[in-house]
Amino acid sequence: MLPDSPVRQRRTVEKTSPQRHTQRECSAFGKECSFPPDPPPILQRRCFAGARHAFVNSRRGNRRLLRAAQPRFSFPGSRLRRRASCACQEGAGRRAPRARLPLPGLHFHFLFRGRGGRRQRREGSLSKKMISLSIKWPLATMLFLPSSLLILLTVSTRSWCQSSDAMSPKASNGTPFPWEKMRLPEHIIPVHYDLLIHANLTTLTFEGTTEIEITASQPTSTIILHSHRLQISKATLKKRDGERLSAEPLTVLEYPAHEQIALLAPEPLVVGLPYVVVIDYAGHLSEHLQGFYKSTYRTKEGEVRVLASTHFEPTAARMAFPCFDEPAFKANFSVKIRREPRHLAISNMPLVKSVTVAEGLLEDHFAVTVKMSTYLVAFIISDFKSISKMTKSGVKVSIYAVPDKIHQADYALDTAVTLLEFYEDYFRIPYPLPKQDLAAIPDFESGAMENWGLTTYRESILLFDAEKSSASDKLGITMTVSHELAHQWFGNLVTMEWWNDLWLKEGFAKFMEFVSVSVTHPELKVGDYFLGKCFDVMELDALNSSHPVSTAVENPAQIREMFDEVSYKKGACILNMLRDYLSAEAFKSGVVRYLQKYSYKNTRNEDLWNSMASICPADDSQSMDGFCSRGPHSSSASHWRQEGLDVKTMMNTWTLQKGFPLITVTVRGKNVHVRQELYRKGPEDASETGYLWHVPLTFITSKSDSIQRFLLKTKTDVLILPEEVEWIKFNVGMNGYYIVHYEDDGWDSLTGLLTVAHTTISSNDRASLINNAFQLVSNGKLSIEKALDLTLYLKRETEIMPVFQGLNELIPMYKLMEKRDMNEVENQFKVEAFNEVNSYMLVCFCAGVGRRPHHCAFLIRLLSDLIDNQTWTDEGSVSQRMLRSQLLLLACVRKYQPCVQRAEAYFREWKDADGNLSLPSDVTLAVFAVGVQDPEGWDFLYRKYQSSLSSSEKNKIEFALSISQDKDKLQWLLEESFKGDVIKIQEFPHILGAIGRNPVGYPLAWQFLRENWDKLIQKFELGSASLTYMVIGTTSQFSTRARLEEVKEFFSSLKEKGSQLRCVQQTIETIGENIRWMDKNFEKIRVWLQSEKLELL
Ligand SMILES: [Zn+2]
Repeated sequence: MLPDSPVRQRRTVEKTSPQRHTQRECSAFGKECSFPPDPPPILQRRCFAGARHAFVNSRRGNRRLLRAAQPRFSFPGSRLRRRASCACQEGAGRRAPRARLPLPGLHFHFLFRGRGGRRQRREGSLSKKMISLSIKWPLATMLFLPSSLLILLTVSTRSWCQSSDAMSPKASNGTPFPWEKMRLPEHIIPVHYDLLIHANLTTLTFEGTTEIEITASQPTSTIILHSHRLQISKATLKKRDGERLSAEPLTVLEYPAHEQIALLAPEPLVVGLPYVVVIDYAGHLSEHLQGFYKSTYRTKEGEVRVLASTHFEPTAARMAFPCFDEPAFKANFSVKIRREPRHLAISNMPLVKSVTVAEGLLEDHFAVTVKMSTYLVAFIISDFKSISKMTKSGVKVSIYAVPDKIHQADYALDTAVTLLEFYEDYFRIPYPLPKQDLAAIPDFESGAMENWGLTTYRESILLFDAEKSSASDKLGITMTVSHELAHQWFGNLVTMEWWNDLWLKEGFAKFMEFVSVSVTHPELKVGDYFLGKCFDVMELDALNSSHPVSTAVENPAQIREMFDEVSYKKGACILNMLRDYLSAEAFKSGVVRYLQKYSYKNTRNEDLWNSMASICPADDSQSMDGFCSRGPHSSSASHWRQEGLDVKTMMNTWTLQKGFPLITVTVRGKNVHVRQELYRKGPEDASETGYLWHVPLTFITSKSDSIQRFLLKTKTDVLILPEEVEWIKFNVGMNGYYIVHYEDDGWDSLTGLLTVAHTTISSNDRASLINNAFQLVSNGKLSIEKALDLTLYLKRETEIMPVFQGLNELIPMYKLMEKRDMNEVENQFKVEAFNEVNSYMLVCFCAGVGRRPHHCAFLIRLLSDLIDNQTWTDEGSVSQRMLRSQLLLLACVRKYQPCVQRAEAYFREWKDADGNLSLPSDVTLAVFAVGVQDPEGWDFLYRKYQSSLSSSEKNKIEFALSISQDKDKLQWLLEESFKGDVIKIQEFPHILGAIGRNPVGYPLAWQFLRENWDKLIQKFELGSASLTYMVIGTTSQFSTRARLEEVKEFFSSLKEKGSQLRCVQQTIETIGENIRWMDKNFEKIRVWLQSEKLELL
């Protein structure tokens, strides 16, 4: 899946699998545990989730959930974590909990047996903030713990390990429900589903019959599976008894809290025999955008038409048919859809035949799918039109869209064909289905979804209007199609075993967007944008409330929360780092090996690393027993030569630890001292010394532009250069997921280089210097003055990424200033000082075309040459066009008069022509942003919004409406878009976020979020990316203590309706950082601006 972008995301581990058996034995509390190296989902679920709850038993015995403690408890050494989980299970089953809490409240300890069976003890306690455990064990220690280590984890409360025993669940009819866990038992295995669905698009209901062929691996008379909001009328069990086929009724129990049902058979199922469960049920088409849901659209003539579509990932297949809704329960699916003749139905596989079952009722039969997970099943009933093409290998590719928009499908069709051909070649595995449909759905919450053979998209992310879509739309469509098609292999063919390893598919699909599109569409120069993804996620990953890429999750809300930037972007960035390290060819070989080995199966982290293990880095390396070593002629003074390369150990340091390293570089003559530590935005925390990464360092110097490489595996190390250098730049091209601090005069040398000859280093290197400098301001390593000095060279910059990065660093400074009302300012600063900064930073006082903007906002003055040089056309490369679009928008919003006047003239012309004038698409946003500030212009734009058939144009209008300075109009827009009528509900998160960033609108957005929270979590579920976007969008730019208290108070009052969300922790932490940042830097910025350094250039 691809979340929506805010700018504008039969079980294959067979029952004989030794890994599975080991887990089962452990969870049965008996045997000594010996786990494969990846976190075992079941044990994590039972124990680790239990454990983190147990941390917060207070002195008075109150049980308080402390979700934020969990990431810190994810020990960097995975081995220790596994053992802890395992022993916890043992404690639950056989051993009475026995340790007493020696300190009041929040304290714990471990007992464990070390080498030789000697019993040892470790203990720790929560900090007062209750957000972290003070104990940290150095990774270095843990990596060398003996494999026979057995930890006996003992605590003072039974809740540690017995959460499941504490309360027997009750079914909805009051009788005991026979299964207490969130995850399904493993002894019933679905093999094949026969689905019959009949939806009524008038009554908005559907009926269905699901027949599931199952086998049992142990005798049981209970079948547990998922079902959510379905009314089950009848369930029977068919079995073949010799020649005779018998059918027995099953008793149905429902347990809505876990979205499960239990089917009780009169007698136990016989192991190994095939059975078929038949369930008749009915349901309502969902009003929200998950499960089997209703979507509508308006034709050119104004008629409203209804269609029904599906979106199942991660846990909504159970809303359309009862099923074993976990990704490891793979099965084959035969889908039959009943429909009226005026509609058509599409599903994962091609149509085999249509039969008439009654007058005016047809039944479409689709071919049997390959073996796949439930979340990938899809079907759509609509009146869509389609266009098609064949790939070279004979796969039929079609685009489906509403009839009025099918003429916008050509670009997506050509792109999909090209990309499918690319992936077949790259992965060396043919696409296994005969067809690939791409459908544009009018109502769609996320960006797109990779259902096998039937990928689904937002209209704006698939349809390209040659007249109205902009350069960034084209880039977005190409990348999204690339993402979903990559999933056909990464995710669909090879699937993560459980959602804790979601990154295995999402990180990969995000990464493959860049790998594929850079080959298939070189003109888009996508390599330029990759590092932007890494900068984005580092903002989040620098917070204590971040989480490791691979993180234990259990319930649907936690699973939904995994669809975040860490899974997607950090996943992609660490894969890019690995590819840069291994070489593109070696990386590809590992990927191909992984896909071939695990086709139609499920995997964990370690399976990927094992596939890479005997693949060697580039140059002259050799493979030896799964390790690589560099030959004697290697150009770099690499540690690989001495110790070999262990991909798994290296990558575990990136996937099992949250955060990323800060590398501090000190040059002393020819010696380069390097040191690694965890990067945190805030002040250093003494308890965070245990982090250690295997960092593939790269660098260039003033004397050599050939890339030198060095794998840093220890806290500190020293490199020796052949000669002394004037400057050194680490993390070449920002291919590594780390930031770099240059001590002493290191930053001065680099600023000097940028000032006199910035093109000596690549544009990505320049962008990374800007990013790193401001990151270092946040954690106090570099002064704000030095970071601002470095940005001065942007006056001569013309490349998109350094300019964008400059904007990304400087605009948030503006935003923090804008969102302070004068009372707050008076409390914290001198009013004159604030006004002064305001005048320097926020407003343009300049007027008149051609007049130099001496008294204009700093940012505009910095970029004025570049802005003045922009043509108001659609000419140039995609990156030139995107740069133009952003610069003109910035200039017009910041009231740079030459821009405003030109945009006003364009808007007048466009309005006079009743919107029929064709504006250059890349300047449209700036034109609308100016036009909307006049009330009449606002109304005109809204009228055009209602009739526009171009989703690109609609997106631009939506954005423009949200940046109005008229509070009444903003309030009206919030209410109107929340209705989800003319403006679709899927657009609401964007609108709320845009108004939340608007200096006039942000109090309205924050108020709206609070007043409508209950309704919001109905429409966008807890943990969803949309909800996260709204929480962050409305609150994360606050920078005052009063606002921080407001935010804390509101979210803590929500209890189970939102207090526990990770995004809440993130925003609270971010506001705290903003306050600290403003306290520290405001006065310095004022003085720096007064110095008018820019004018001296
Ligand atoms: Zn995806």
